[in-house]
Parts: sequence; structure tokens; C-alpha cells
Amino acid sequence: VLPACKTKPEQSTASQTQTEASTSPPQTQPGNTTLPTQSNELYLFRNDWLDKDNIYVYGQPPLDYLRAVNATGVTWSVYWAGLTSQDQNYVETLHQNGFKVASSLPTVQGDIDLVRGDSSLLERASCRDIQGEISYLSWVSEKSVYFMCHNNPEWQEFLKTRIKENIDGGADAIQIDEIEGTGGHLDIAGFCEYCLKGFRLYLGERYSAAELRDRFGIENIDSFDYRSYLRANNANTVWEDPNQDLLHEYLNFQYSSRLTQINDLIKYARDYAGRDILFSANVYGLSPNLQIYIPLLDFLVAEIPIGSLPEGKQFARYLLSDAIDPSKPFIAFPDIHNLASLSADDWRLWRHWLAEAYACGASFLLPYQAYTYGGGAFTLPAEKMADYTDFITAHADLYLNVTPPADVAVLYSLESTLLDWSAWENYLNLGRVLQEVHVPFQVIFNGDNQLFPTAINSDTLAKYQILVIPPGHYFDATTELLLEQYSQNGGKIIRLDTPAEISDIYSLIESTGFSFKLTTDASGNLGITLNKKDNVLIAHIINYNYDYAAHDFTPEKNVTITFTLPADFLTGDKVLRLLSPDSPEKTLDYTLEGNRLSFILPEVYIYSILLFE
Ligand SMILES: [Zn+2]
Repeated sequence: VLPACKTKPEQSTASQTQTEASTSPPQTQPGNTTLPTQSNELYLFRNDWLDKDNIYVYGQPPLDYLRAVNATGVTWSVYWAGLTSQDQNYVETLHQNGFKVASSLPTVQGDIDLVRGDSSLLERASCRDIQGEISYLSWVSEKSVYFMCHNNPEWQEFLKTRIKENIDGGADAIQIDEIEGTGGHLDIAGFCEYCLKGFRLYLGERYSAAELRDRFGIENIDSFDYRSYLRANNANTVWEDPNQDLLHEYLNFQYSSRLTQINDLIKYARDYAGRDILFSANVYGLSPNLQIYIPLLDFLVAEIPIGSLPEGKQFARYLLSDAIDPSKPFIAFPDIHNLASLSADDWRLWRHWLAEAYACGASFLLPYQAYTYGGGAFTLPAEKMADYTDFITAHADLYLNVTPPADVAVLYSLESTLLDWSAWENYLNLGRVLQEVHVPFQVIFNGDNQLFPTAINSDTLAKYQILVIPPGHYFDATTELLLEQYSQNGGKIIRLDTPAEISDIYSLIESTGFSFKLTTDASGNLGITLNKKDNVLIAHIINYNYDYAAHDFTPEKNVTITFTLPADFLTGDKVLRLLSPDSPEKTLDYTLEGNRLSFILPEVYIYSILLFE
């Protein structure tokens, strides 16, 4: 199940005019401190606004909130149920004050408020489950919400109308929710007449009558009904299809039909807008079946299953996003189930999450009345976050355009993970273990040959001394040939065959004769990233040792660290500084033997940066 986000429904439009003053955010008048844009000046959004160090807030926070956390804009904000004057006023106010707005475009949710009461549209354009019954969202608990089918032409038209409203309302960016469509929810949907017809056409285009009969036992494609076929084979879910090749074709049909629809929708929107506009989407968890949409998007704002500390480590997800496309900012957010169980007293976790994301070149969304599973709302008070956002803004140059040490890379296969969820879990577990044993790593992304074709080349591989292949990840003949050449040229490949081998990764790397650039007695509770920039060594240190009973972090103390400096690194006359939003800056003593820099880190509370400069 992939939960998804939904902002709070609009107030009813009937009462809008009267109640505008009270339902609008309290500080929506142009502020006295910031000069508003003159009303006759044409507002123009430019796509180059998008930047990795933008800070975003969820929802419709007041201006004071945005200023307090140095935000550049909001996302998952306006127009959840289409254009309203209330939302439009909010957009104009933000624009007048220099903030940008990403609107919210739900594409699967069939909420009665979202379609302005058109219940017959919901019945006509919703999908059906394997029993032939109407599909409802499994992740909205407070009322029945229809699951709308991306293969339904009427719903496709509805979304075009809705996207026009987002553009008419002045949205600078549109955040597509539930971008995975029907193919991401085959436990509850995927069997309406349009899904079944679409699959018939898909198979008919790819296979001859003889192939259909021999491979899949389909005698007459014109009367083939995938749902009846599954039921006749006693399959209660699509995953129980006795012919796994047919299942893979069905998945490919659902993924590719959604890709086509989203591509059409974005093209339609850009044509209609006739101006710059950006697209992002909730690529939940950066899961394999959501990675396929990334080529269509400008940036990513995604719920992730954040996990509880000290296990909830996210380096693998952030570094994969960077590997897929380093030009597309990735902004993470806890999933709605995590939010629902999060105490207001756990506000320090948001500092940790923001620092962890920034340490990996990503960012983290701050919640203002964010929807949580069950219908609640979560707001992080701005004053709890300002120390951290001020610190990050002041040190932006330590996060951008840095060079990681290119020693160890994990080679990731989309093709494998797309069809095998355990291969995806193996990747995430491998990343977590590498993080815990303090082996800085990068990721190389290898796409598939259909939905997200990419080609890795020998230059990319040659940058690394060691390639680690997670269990269950396999590659086509072309890539295998590249790997063979890499190996012949002295590169070391560690192929993990079973999940059990993941925990041995440190000794497996050690056994190749690799000399670790970072050695430390730090516990797995510390996450360390290593970067270089302009002859400065930058290490971000994140503490995961969190006490949920005390709602506070337990500092990690007296950690010995040795860095082996890059060969071209100039070491003369340098100082070792420890910066943190948690405490005043310190200068640390160190020893330097050859290119080995050693020191003792006295304490990390939530987050610190080491600078050798
Ligand atoms: Zn359908």
C-alpha cells in the first residue's frame, strides 16, 4: 500500500465571501516590512527559480511563518479542489511578497468535495477491484473516497480541466499527487472496463494470435478479460496470476498507460499556460514504480516512510535520487501514517530530518496544518525550526556543488526492483548498513529498457574503486560487458547473492584490499557524509540516537575519527572547525600523519559539521 497525501478540503464556497477574513491565513495583507510588487507590474514566474537550497513549507502558512523559516515557497498548497477565490487571494499575497506557490493536483482521489458534488462522475470514472466492485482509497480512513482510474477517458478530461484552473489561479508549480495511478494500487483497483480494454489493446499490439495462445493461453484477444481469467485461476490478487509473464505484461501496461497520460497532461498544461511552470510529484518513498515518472518532472516532493530512530536512516533514498538526476531537487516529507503518530513534543526530529536531507544534497518539507492519516493536522511551530533553517541558509555553500569521495558505489537496477520488491528492500538495507558502518558511498542508477531507459558507461564506473551490487539486482548483457571490462581494468565488484550477506559488507570490502578513507569508533547511531570543496574537507555528522520517552536526542560523545585526505589535498596551515546549530563553534585539536587526519569529536547532539580548511 502506498499511502498518499491530501490537503484539507476547502471551506464550502457558499460561505466564502462572508468568512474570507477568518478563513484566510491571518497575515495575508502585504506586510509593512516587505515592499509589495506594484499592482500594475506584471508578475512573471521563471523556472530558474528552482534551486537545491530552496526551503518549502507544506500547506498555506501565513507570511510570518514563511519568513521565520527562510522559506522560498509552499507546496501541496492551493487548489486541491480546483480554483477558489480564497486560494487565489493567497497565491496573490504570496507573489506580492516574493514567495512561490506549488499547487496540489490530486489525480486519483475521488472525494465528493473535490468534484464539487458530482457523485455520478465518481461512479462512472472510478476503477473496479478484482471482485468487480467499486474501488475506494484504502488510505483515507475518515470517509469513503472513490479511487479514480487513470485509464478512464472522462477522468482524463476532468484532470485537464482541473489543471487549467491551477494555471488560471497563477500556480508557479503543480504538485501531482498519486502520480503512480492505478498501477500503484492493484490491491484495490485495476479492473474497470477501461483497464481491461486497455490491456486487451496492449497485448494485441505486441503479440500475434499464435504468440498470445502459446505464451498466455489466450485463444481470442477480442474477448479476453484479465479479471475473469484471474478469477477462473482462483487468484484473489493480481500477484497470484499463475503466469508471471502475463502479470509482468499487465504491470507494464498499467505503468506505460499512466506515463503516457501524465506526459500528455504536462504537455497540455505547458501549452495552455504559455509561460514558465514547474511540475513535481509525490513519488512516494522514491519506490521503483514511482522512479519511472522522474524524467517527466522538474523536482520531487515525496512522502517517505520515515521510520523510527535509530533505524530510520535515509542516506540510501537521498543518494539514489541524486543518482537518478542530480539536477532535480528532492524534498522529503514523513508519510501521513508517520505524521498521525508523531507527538508535538518530538519537534526535534524535524531538525534531525532537515539536517539529514541537506547532508545528502536533498531537502525536507516543513508542515503547516499538514493532513495526517485519520484526518488530523500537524503543524511544526516556526520557532522550533528557525535555528536550523538559519544555520542552513547561512552555510548554503557547504551543501551545494560539493564533491563526494568517489570510492565505493552501489550499482542499482530499476529493472530488478520494478518487478521484485525484495530487491528494492535489499538496496535500502544495504544503504542503511553502509551508513551504519561508516563507508561513504554513492549510487549508480541503471534504468530499464522500456519505461526509464538509461545507459551507464565505462567512465561512470571507472570513477569508483569498488562496485557493490545488492542481492536480486541483475543487468542486461550490455551492462554486464561493461562490468567485465571494469573488472579487467582493476575495479573490484562485490555481488551480494543473499540478503544475509548485506551485514558482512564491511569485511567484504576490506577483503578486496581497499583502504577506507574514513575510519572511526563511532556507533551506528552516527551517520557521516564526506565531501570536498575548494580544498576544504566537509563532513556532516547526524545523530540518530533518539529517546522517544524523553522526546530528546542522547548525545554521542568522544568519537575518534581518521580521514585519509585526497592525494591532491593541500594540508598546510589548516584548522579543524566544528560547526553546529546546536552549540557555539569550536576549533578541534588534530594530528596529521602523512595524509591521515585524526581527531576526537567531543560531542554531537543532533547535527554538526566538521570543516578542515
Ligand atoms: Zn480502471
